[in-house]
Amino acid sequence: MILVVGGGPAGAACAIALAQAGRAVTLIEREPAATDKVCGEFVSAEAQAYLTRLGLPPALLGGQPITRLRLVRGGRTITAPLPFAGRGVRRRGVDETLLDVAEQSGVRVRRGQAVRRIDSGGISVEVGGEVLHPATLVLASGKHEVRGAARPARPGRLVGLKSYFSLAAGPQSELVQHVELIMFRGGYAGLQMVEDGLANLSLLVDKAVLREAGNKWPALLAGLQRTIPHLASRLDKAADRLPEPLAIAGMPFGFLHRPHAADPPDLFRLGDQAAVIQSFTGDGLAIALHSAALAAAAIIAGASAQTYHQQLRTDVRWQVFRAGALHHALSAPLLGPVLFAGAALWPATLARAAAWTRVPEAALARCQSQARPGLCSLR
Ligand SMILES: Cc1cc2nc3c(=O)[nH]c(=O)nc-3n(C[C@H](O)[C@H](O)[C@H](O)COP(=O)(O)OP(=O)(O)OC[C@H]3O[C@@H](n4cnc5c(N)ncnc54)[C@H](O)[C@@H]3O)c2cc1C
Repeated sequence: MILVVGGGPAGAACAIALAQAGRAVTLIEREPAATDKVCGEFVSAEAQAYLTRLGLPPALLGGQPITRLRLVRGGRTITAPLPFAGRGVRRRGVDETLLDVAEQSGVRVRRGQAVRRIDSGGISVEVGGEVLHPATLVLASGKHEVRGAARPARPGRLVGLKSYFSLAAGPQSELVQHVELIMFRGGYAGLQMVEDGLANLSLLVDKAVLREAGNKWPALLAGLQRTIPHLASRLDKAADRLPEPLAIAGMPFGFLHRPHAADPPDLFRLGDQAAVIQSFTGDGLAIALHSAALAAAAIIAGASAQTYHQQLRTDVRWQVFRAGALHHALSAPLLGPVLFAGAALWPATLARAAAWTRVPEAALARCQSQARPGLCSLR
C-alpha cells in the first residue's frame, strides 16, 4: 500500500496520479475539510498547466487573471508585464476539489486524522492510535514537520502572515490584473485580488519587526501603514475578513532536500517537504505539483526515492537558488535601493527575474507527454 501524508496540492496530485495508474493509495489529511492557508494564492502558469491536467482548468479555478507585476518600495512604484499569465485564486476551493478528484480516482482519503510519528527506519506510521506499515510513504505535510521525519533544515527568521480584506472600489480597480509586491524594512507584502471584492494580503516579516509590534496583528498593520503610504491607500476603508491572521513561523526558505545514501529508499518528500522557494516568486505551488508528478512517475517505474529526489533537485535547484539570491540582494540595505533604481530604469528586468524563478521549461516538457498524462519521464 502507498500512504500519502498530507492532502495539500502535492499530496493530492501525487495520490491522483498513482490511483489513476491503478495503485492502491491511502491519503491522510489532518483537517476534516480544506482550510485557508498561509499563501499569497498566486497560481503561476506552470501550476495552472498541472491543475488543468488534474481536472481543474482556469475556467473552473475561478479567481482573477494576473498579467502585471507592481513593485513598490518607499514612495516609488515600478510596473511591468509578467512573462506569463498567472491567476489569483482562493486556495481553499482548489485544495478541496483536488481531494474530491482523489476520492473519485479511487484514493482512500482519511480526513481529520493527523499522522503523529513516522519511524522512517522500517517505515511505520502512527495515526489515530493505529500503526501502519506502508510499502511506500509519500510525505507531503507541507510547512509542518512530522515527528521522526522532520526536514533537515534550519528555520528561517521570517514569519508569514495572511488575511483577506474587502477593499474599497478604488484599490480594487487598481489591482485588476496586477499582483503587488511591497518591500519594506524587515520584510515584504504581496497583495492581489483572489475573489470578487476580496484581496489576499500576505506578509513576510522578520521576527524583530513583529516583536516591535508587540506580536499583535493590528499594531503591525497600523505601523506598516504609517510608514508605507501605498499600503495605507490600499487598506483605506478596507475590512479585515478573518478574525485572526493565519501565521507560520520559521519557514526554511531556500531548503532543497539533498538525497543521501542513508535516506530510506521508500520515503518520498514532496512539495514544501522537499523544496521551499521564496514566496515572492509565487511558484511554491508549481514546485509542489511538479514534485507530485515526478514522484508518482518514480513510484510507478519502481525507481528509488533517491532517484526521484535527485531529479527534483536537478530540476529546481537553480530556480530556488536564484530566488534566494534575489531576496538577499533586494533586502540588502545598500544593494536593494540600487537594484530597485535599476529596475525602475529597465522594467523589463522584472519580467526577466520572474522568468528566472519558474520551474524550467525542459523539466516541464518531460512531464507533458500525452501518453503519460500527469506523469513525467525520469532521466
Ligand atoms: C507567506 C507565503 C506566501 C506564499 N505565496 C505563494 C503564492 O502566492 N503562490 C505559490 O505558488 N506559492 C506560495 N507559497 C508557497 C505555497 O503555499 C506552498 O509551496 C504550497 O502550499 C506547498 O504545497 P504542499 O502540498 O507541499 O503543502 P500544503 O499546501 O501546506 O499542504 C500540506 C497538507 O498536509 C496536512 N498535514 C500537515 N501535517 C500533517 C500530519 N501530521 N498528518 C496529516 N496531514 C498533515 C496539512 O493540513 C495540509 O493540508 C507561499 C508560502 C508562504 C509561506
